Amino acid sequence: MVKQTIQIFARVKPTVRKQQQGIYSIDEDEKLTPSLEIILPRDLADGFVNNKRESYRFKFQRIFDQNEKQETIFENIAKPVAESVLAGYNGTIFAYGQTGSGKTFTITGGAERYSDRGIIPRTLSYIFEQLQKDSSKIYTTHISYLEIYNECGYDLLDPRHEASSLEDLPKVTILEDPDQNIHLKNLSLHLATTEEEALNLLFLGDTNRMIAETPMNQASTRSHCIFTIHLSSKEPGSATVRQAKLHLVDLAGSERVAKTGVGGQLLTEAKYINLSLHYLEQVIIALSEKHRSHIPYRNSMMTSVLRDSLGGNCMTTMIATLSLEKRNIDESISTCRFAQRVALIKNEAVLNEEIDPRLMIIRLQKEIQELKDELAIVTGEQRTEALTEAELLQLEKRITSFLEDQDPESKLEVGADMRKIHHCFHYLKKLLNDKKIHGTSIASSEIKDQNSQEPLKEEEYKKLRDILQQRDNEINILVTMLKKEKKKAQDALHVSSMDRSELRRSQSSPFPPGNPEGPRMLPPSAPTQAPDSSTSQYRSSLLHGKTGMKEEMSFGRQEAFEIFKRDHADSVTIEDSKQILKQRFSEAKALGESINEARIKIGRLKEEITQRHVQQVAQGISESTPVPLTPDLLEEKLRSQLQEEKRRYKAMFTHLKALKVEIEHLQLLMDKAKVKLQKEFEAWWAEEATSLQVNSPAVNSLNHMKPFPQTPESQHERSQLLSSKSDIYARKILPSPGPLLHSQEQSSPSTPLEDRIPERPVSSVPLTGDSQTDSDILAFIKARQSILQRTGQCTFPGSSSRAMVKGR
Ligand code: ADP
Ligand code: MG
Repeated sequence: MVKQTIQIFARVKPTVRKQQQGIYSIDEDEKLTPSLEIILPRDLADGFVNNKRESYRFKFQRIFDQNEKQETIFENIAKPVAESVLAGYNGTIFAYGQTGSGKTFTITGGAERYSDRGIIPRTLSYIFEQLQKDSSKIYTTHISYLEIYNECGYDLLDPRHEASSLEDLPKVTILEDPDQNIHLKNLSLHLATTEEEALNLLFLGDTNRMIAETPMNQASTRSHCIFTIHLSSKEPGSATVRQAKLHLVDLAGSERVAKTGVGGQLLTEAKYINLSLHYLEQVIIALSEKHRSHIPYRNSMMTSVLRDSLGGNCMTTMIATLSLEKRNIDESISTCRFAQRVALIKNEAVLNEEIDPRLMIIRLQKEIQELKDELAIVTGEQRTEALTEAELLQLEKRITSFLEDQDPESKLEVGADMRKIHHCFHYLKKLLNDKKIHGTSIASSEIKDQNSQEPLKEEEYKKLRDILQQRDNEINILVTMLKKEKKKAQDALHVSSMDRSELRRSQSSPFPPGNPEGPRMLPPSAPTQAPDSSTSQYRSSLLHGKTGMKEEMSFGRQEAFEIFKRDHADSVTIEDSKQILKQRFSEAKALGESINEARIKIGRLKEEITQRHVQQVAQGISESTPVPLTPDLLEEKLRSQLQEEKRRYKAMFTHLKALKVEIEHLQLLMDKAKVKLQKEFEAWWAEEATSLQVNSPAVNSLNHMKPFPQTPESQHERSQLLSSKSDIYARKILPSPGPLLHSQEQSSPSTPLEDRIPERPVSSVPLTGDSQTDSDILAFIKARQSILQRTGQCTFPGSSSRAMVKGR
């Protein structure tokens, strides 16, 4: 048993403005427990007559300042927890803080850079790496992803998410057994055998969460998300199973009401907006007070689910995320105060070992049989009569199944009966002799067969060559047809280059199977092999399913989507991700080639060494001198070259493996961004349609391309109308930071680049209205855009942020 208080860490989010930095200081001098001092700005502190404190000091296990990397957070916070989970203890990491303080960034990660991936993907990577290394146990990993919104639980991995709205899905409910263990009904557990599968589940859940979110239900700030890794392990042959759970929790925003400094309310305990956080606080208070017998876990779903993590059988860690800007001072102090209380809670983690009853029964049955046999030998029980036909037959059956059993631990149990033991030996001998004779006859008949087939070969070969030629011709014809069709479709539809390449993405592996430069050149175990089809199926089904995509789309709508996409900040991000992906692909390709070269070289060196041996022996025989005992210099040189090449091979192989994980991650990020773009377009389109109805006289005039009057008043009116609308967009669409890495074009000898970069369709938008209405809306959008361009304003959501990105 491990007794431990909940570990608390603080992480400060980078502030945009420099001058905000005087607000806090981190004192690392006190070696064991560093402290964070929050300094109250004068104008806020002055409001207090009776309580004129100027600063507050809070102790944490460790404080991570603005510039700390995700890698550092993982190494210091999550890795130790992951290690104890691997050892069989439960673990929980939860992020607590106001909205925008970096909870999601810390737990899941940022949406743009691979290096921004958070605790969940890094922990998955680490756990699967460790499992692979440890062959002494058999491990099984399952994933579940629960969202709690408004006291209701939703399974984010429920496949029905695609078809139904959130409200129609079966709710996850809590069941308590007589031992007060919590069970979650309707929460699905998904087996994940690789890191990639687990990562897919994470992105599936996140996308489901995003899709379900509406402006009315801002789930991402008001709901709690619990990503759980269920790990079970067992030693081969043992009946004891260890089970451990790791909860990675992204809590709802901790903001409270009465967020002002007026009237002395600042720094007094204000009420949570989120009720379940209020209950969480009650549980924490109850736990941190001594001699409290009743802990109100049952008041809310979240505290029930996390019951073990709070004052129970779990190693728990809290990350207080802080956005230390002046306007957030009170929230930050609340967060730190909450953490101080949490730090008082003691947990007692125990190893979760269970005996598997099925395995136990088998083991006991075996033991009984062995004891019976021993007893028979000791008592000298003799049997004189011969074995019956049936007994013999049964014995032979047992021998056969024993021989067929691949398990090295399997035993042939016949009991302590000498007649049976003897018969076994006889039977085995017979089998062995039969096999020998049979084996020789097979070998000789094979030779005969080969000889008789010899004249056939030439004919067969010719036939195959003809068929091949014929197929080649057929393929050529088909390819030409396809090309024509494609060109026709492109001309007609004005599909943007992005979407065109996306449509080609039917093979979503880093190396499409048809690519001759791809994995075929690598050894069969190479990690660059196309990811299993389930992954790609998952991805394309995700995109198709999520967005309800259909192939057709009215011209008007399609064009509007192009405009929307062009001006949306996220499309810059998508473009950047695409560039990075291209770069990674070409890196992976080059690496694959180098690996292959190294492999060939290793083979050649081995060959040379063997040759050298043969030479020496031959020389020894011909000159009848013994092989020299002194080391052969040339051979040594070859050997050291071989070692070096092997090292290089291994290093490249590891790099390639990491590259593959990165590519997979980037693809998933891009998918998510595309689904988001699509979703926002739909919302925007609906707004435009409504707006068209409201302003139809204006539209009519626009439709007829009458120039919009250029008087300053009318311009003002117009921009007022639009800015009120873009407020709505601003709330829905967060500006994204801009491009990140440089790109590098990939060159390929055979295939055009886009053909080889897996893309997924995103462009098609479900048809709602008829094409006439759609083109009306488009005309409205375009006319307005041209007016605003002339007056130098922005028309589209995200367009201002795009301008900002460009300007950076
Ligand atoms: P929360 O989940 O607490 O509401 P987010 O994790 O969504 O907050 O963070 C808000 C924004 O700040 C996001 O755009 C995120 O990328 C950014 N952000 C948060 N923490 C960091 C950090 N440590 N470094 C860089 N960006 C961050
Ligand atoms: Mg969040």
